[in-house]
Amino acid sequence: MCMICKNKTYIESTTTHVVDHRDSLIIIRNVPCLECERCGERFYIDAVAEKLEKIVERVKSLMPEISIVDYKSVV
Ligand SMILES: [Zn+2]
Repeated sequence: MCMICKNKTYIESTTTHVVDHRDSLIIIRNVPCLECERCGERFYIDAVAEKLEKIVERVKSLMPEISIVDYKSVV
């Protein structure tokens, strides 16, 4: 259920996830998400949220200032 407008219908979509972490900016493109049909609020399913955390951990350890990652390219 949408936390913003309580709507229960979603469409499948993709989004760009941005993490601003201290000195580094991590941009993950093509992240699958659900978009509320009524208000457009976007949500991640648990599996995607977990994978995003892992991607961020991995990329942070490399310490680049700016990283742009394609979600689909990370296994
Ligand atoms: Zn909504």
